[in-house]
Amino acid sequence: MIEELSRLPGIGSKSSQRLAFHILHMPLEDVKRLSQTLIDARENVRFCKECFTLTDEETCPICANAKRDHRQIMVVEDSRDLAAYEKTQKYEGVYHVLHGAISPMQGIGPQDIRLKELMQRLQRQDVDEVIIATNSSLEGETTAMYIAKLLKPTGILTTRIASGVPVGGDLEYIDEVTLQRAFDGRTEI
Ligand code: ZN
Repeated sequence: MIEELSRLPGIGSKSSQRLAFHILHMPLEDVKRLSQTLIDARENVRFCKECFTLTDEETCPICANAKRDHRQIMVVEDSRDLAAYEKTQKYEGVYHVLHGAISPMQGIGPQDIRLKELMQRLQRQDVDEVIIATNSSLEGETTAMYIAKLLKPTGILTTRIASGVPVGGDLEYIDEVTLQRAFDGRTEI
């Protein structure tokens, strides 16, 4: 158990020991429920057919919500960034999750993230604005520039979230006020 747990990200050998002993002291029923939850999640979670975030339904609750503005699409690197924006409760548009960023260093090209799906989506539906909210890391910036170039011929307003997000910062670790300021200050690129 200690070995298995230590394979999870952010869990060192000390943490995995602590977790293992904790689990050993838990009531068997609780351990069974935890195991079943992990199995259910792994089996049922898939990509939303619209925005590609992780969901247990064909269309995620955000895409299925008619009250959201479907003409405004925010492009994020992963589902955790989407969750961070949702916490602000200020954004009323929808999302597109890339599942990564372009990184020539790591051999990740445009074809390795959900960019083709974004372009197909823009052909399929009327969109007023694409907000690029990739991280402000080198990979995030590279991806933002690439998308902006790709979208230029479409004539769709393309914006990039403003700083307020520290350089090199991961969106998921940023507080809501900073995220909000970054969103409000977005500029056309
Ligand atoms: Zn969706």
